[in-house]
Order: sequence, then structure tokens, then C-alpha cells
Amino acid sequence: MYPMTINGQSVVTDAGHDVPDPATGEVVGQAPLCTAQHLHDAVAAAQIAQKIWAARPDEERRDACRKMSAIISDNAEELAELLTKEQGKPLKTMGAEFEVGGAAAWAGYAADLEMPVKILQDDDTARIEQHRVPVGVVGSITPWNWPLLIAVWHIVPAIRAGNAVVIKPSPNTPLSTLRMVELLNTVLPAGVLNCVTGDGHIGALMSEHKDINKIVFTGSTATGKNIMQSAAGSLKRLTLELGGNDAGIILPDVDPKAIAEGVFWGAFLNMGQTCAALKRLYVHNSIYDEMCAALVDLAANMPMGHGLDPATVVGPLQNPMQLNIVADLVDDARAKGARILCGGARAGGTGNFYPITFVADIEAGTKLVDEEQFGTALPIIRYDDVEDAIAQANSLDVGLAASVWSSDADAARAVAERLEAGTVYINQHGQIAPHVPFGGIKGSGIGVEFGQEGLEANTDIKIYNIAKAG
Ligand code: NAD
Repeated sequence: MYPMTINGQSVVTDAGHDVPDPATGEVVGQAPLCTAQHLHDAVAAAQIAQKIWAARPDEERRDACRKMSAIISDNAEELAELLTKEQGKPLKTMGAEFEVGGAAAWAGYAADLEMPVKILQDDDTARIEQHRVPVGVVGSITPWNWPLLIAVWHIVPAIRAGNAVVIKPSPNTPLSTLRMVELLNTVLPAGVLNCVTGDGHIGALMSEHKDINKIVFTGSTATGKNIMQSAAGSLKRLTLELGGNDAGIILPDVDPKAIAEGVFWGAFLNMGQTCAALKRLYVHNSIYDEMCAALVDLAANMPMGHGLDPATVVGPLQNPMQLNIVADLVDDARAKGARILCGGARAGGTGNFYPITFVADIEAGTKLVDEEQFGTALPIIRYDDVEDAIAQANSLDVGLAASVWSSDADAARAVAERLEAGTVYINQHGQIAPHVPFGGIKGSGIGVEFGQEGLEANTDIKIYNIAKAG
């Protein structure tokens, strides 16, 4: 059993659960099933450790970020292999090695962030200073798609800002987080970073826990709403990174072959199990067939298999539930008269494999367009009037990212300005960076991660208002 870490100690439980390899069903390892008492212990340890941590010199917290980055890099091989085994993503090709590399990069970036004191007024009457102070104990709840990267996005800025953290990974992919937290604890004081494992019940207990001051959550919109409700009782600070259904609009002036690869990976990074993946593609009628053909050609050359096989480019979906969602959405589209250009049925044999699937001649009102598929199927919607494409792109109650593709910079910009999303890409989709704030609007979330704003989301403002003798 992979141990939890509570107050710097390794903790296992009598009860545990198996974590299967999504490609084979074989057991990768066991995760503990934490009790309410374990959670209370972790929060109590975090509360004590946080006070000491926040009182340490800032340089020590910077240094901790550098050390966390280094320890992830030093153990990249082990972490990446474990990630492939439990999550399913290929080891290579923007898969597990890419994710672990990103985790190290994001951790290192946090070291150089500053939280300068702002002098708001300094005159004969008063000196007024604005400081950023840690919120206290941050509870982090993560999903199964990018378990290590998202864990680092939650953990490192919180610790950099002087908080202590209790993280709960998804029960689908707990092992890599348990191991990473164990490693990170070798460079952190006991209690600053704790990890407990369990299902949504433990997440709900965290959301209502009176001694957790903030929840940072990445996952589905439905769970985000539940968390917001449970958090209301203690007025927790919240950062919610939720689901999306990103639209991409292809203007008629593009060369379909030239953009096909960018569109393909915008949609299918991590087998489409990426919050800001392209999930609805609107293509102008004049190039519709050519665009479809270019994408289908690419799909034909993407070997699917176990993530540890170096030839694999497309791995399995992470869990049977997600496989069923994708299969049902494609079946529904087919039943409504849409055209399946490639894929369109589960692969035979073991594992949660569903091949890359493009679905043409499909319209709004079909579930594959209106709902987030989070998998290896992309609906391609034909349009004649760009006004109609923009209206359809904006018609849903989510707004994580969107993209517009054109060889005319002005035309692309004009469409981009009208798309309702936290990030609008031009001629690319899904790129993120540690210095660029990222978050959703509408049902896609509250707040941002990354950059200065992401760091400040782990703080409260404290004002010192000092009278001057008259
Ligand atoms: P999920 O919401 O089912 O679960 C996420 C986490 O929440 C898990 O750790 C789960 O145990 C926990 N949880 C479940 N019920 C809870 C409750 N009532 N209270 C507190 N915690 C609870 O999501 P998932 O299936 O793991 O992930 C897929 C979804 O996440 C997709 O909708 C995707 O778009 C979204 N996502 C969003 C982003 C983003 O940055 N916006 C990133 C990745 C994934």
C-alpha cells in the first residue's frame, strides 16, 4: 500500500482499495482509505505547521519551491512510470514525462514570485500599507486527468505564500500523488504538506471542515457546485477550475492541411481528457470536407496501445465510466444521423480503449456537441455564417477556453474578442504557462491559477493603517 503522509509521517489504513491499470485492468497498487479521523489529524497538523511556516523568512519558502522542483526532477523516471501505469497516458509524446517535467517547471517558477508590500498612502496624516498574508490551511482536491501537474498547481503556490496544505487526489489516480507528496516531504517541514486518500465523501468533509480556510478544486462543474455549497458554512476562500466544452472556429481562409496537427492535438492531448481541450469544432462550409479529411488522415497514423510501449501515441481512457460516457455520446450522435468519419466503437480486448473518433454533419442539440465528452471523440460542425458559429460557440453555460483559426490576424482577432472564455487562443489551442493566469468564466470556474494572480489567490489582504502624529 502506498502510504498517506500526515504530519511528516507515513500512514497506512486497514482498509485500502486497488488501483487498476486502465490499459490492462491489472492492479498497479493499493491506496489507503482515509477515515474522518485521519483527515482531522492532517488538518490539525497543517494548522500547527502553518503558523511556524508563515513566520519563517521568505527566502526559506522560495528555497522550498526550488527544492520541490529539484526533487520532482530527480525522481522523474519513477513518477512518470507510475503515472502512466495508473492514469494510462503514454510515457512519451506529451504524456507522463511531459507532465512530470511540467510539474517541476511550475514548482520552480513559484520560487521567483514576489509578494511586495504596497504603500497606499504615506503623508502627514497616515501611512497605509497593503500586505498579502497566507489564508492558513489550504485543502486541495484533484481530478484524475493530470494528477501530478494539477497537484503541483495547487500545492506549490499555497506553500510559497506561507500556507500549509492537505491534498486529496482522485481515487482513480491516487498513487502518483501519494508518492510525490512523500518525496516532497523530504524537503519540507513536517505538517506543511499532507496527503489523504479517499472518495468524494472525504472531499465533502474537507469542504465543510471548519479549520480549512480555502479549497482549491479542479474537477467537474457538478462537484464544484457541491463544494461551494459545503464551503459556505465556514466562508472558505475558493478557487474552482471546472469543466469546459471549448469551441474552435475555423475561418474559411485557412489551409486545412497546415492547421490539422494543431487542431488534432488541441482536441486530443491526454486522449481529450484535458479541461481546456478543443471539444467542438466549427468549420466553414467551403473547407469543411478538406478539414475533415486532413484530420482523419492524421488519426490513421496514431498508434494506440499501452502507455509504456514507446510506440504508443494514444493510450486508453482513464476509467470505465469515462469510456461509457464517450461511447454513449458517439452512439447517440450516430442515432441522430451524424456521420462517423473514423473510430466510433470501443476497441476490443481489455482496457478502456476508444479510438480517435471524428463525427461530421452534427449539430447543436446533439449531446456530443452540447455536453463535455472529455475523451477521444470530436464533433465537427458545419457553418456558413461566422455570426452563427460565434453564437453557437457562446451558447453554452461554460467558458474555459476557445480558439479561432485564420491566416488573417485581424479577422481572427475580431472573432476572438467576441468569444466568451477565460482564454481565447488564435491558431492554437490549450497552451498554458506558469506565468499566464488560467481560469474559466461562467460555469467553468471561479478565480485563476498561475502567475501573480494565482499566487495571490492563496492570500488575504491585510492593511496596516498607521496614524501619524498631527
Ligand atoms: P470529479 O468532480 O468527479 O472529481 C474531482 C475530485 O473531487 C475527486 O478527487 C473526487 O473524489 C472529489 N469529489 C467528488 N465529489 C466530491 C464532493 N461532493 N465534495 C468534494 N470533493 C468531491 O471530476 P473528475 O471526474 O475527477 O474530473 C473530470 C472533470 O474535471 C471534467 O469535467 C473536467 O473538465 C474537469 N477538469 C477541469 C480542469 C480545469 O482546470 N478547469 C482540469 C481538469 C479537469
